[in-house]
Amino acid sequence: MVLLRENTKYKDKLRMDKRGAKKKECKECGYLGKVNEDEICINCEEEDKRKMDLNKCKQCRRKVQGDDEGIQCDKCGLWYHAVCENIGEALYKDLQKDNDELWFCRRCKPTVKKNLLENKKLKEDNVRMKEELQEVKEELQEVKKGNEQACEAVRRFEELIEEKN
Ligand SMILES: [Zn+2]
Ligand SMILES: [Zn+2]
Ligand SMILES: [Zn+2]
Repeated sequence: MVLLRENTKYKDKLRMDKRGAKKKECKECGYLGKVNEDEICINCEEEDKRKMDLNKCKQCRRKVQGDDEGIQCDKCGLWYHAVCENIGEALYKDLQKDNDELWFCRRCKPTVKKNLLENKKLKEDNVRMKEELQEVKEELQEVKKGNEQACEAVRRFEELIEEKN
């Protein structure tokens, strides 16, 4: 028992790097160390890219076969098992029915959401700028009117002086 406990302790120690951050095991090869957001080490990531294994589910690392309930992300184009992305049967059927329905994987969802928000903000900025431009135009109109009135006053004043002479 003691041995086992010590063993666990040792393992825990191994899982921390110098800054105390936890190291993770590569999902593919089991290497303990630096892994990317998919929990894959650099070597396995390179291997993936080389093989261009797009049909490999990014969650469980198994191939999405023809008879699996698979789903393709509309952003990254990668395939996932429906179960691996927590898609229930009902939702899966809905998605199957409607081909126009977009689906984004867990990795892409935050980016898609961010882009949508940024687009919305850009549109709002655009509307605000148009409103500000309109205000400036109206102010300019006022200034012009004021200017015309001033010119008119000067002209009348000059006429008065001429009449007196
Ligand atoms: Zn690996
Ligand atoms: Zn999977
Ligand atoms: Zn994706």
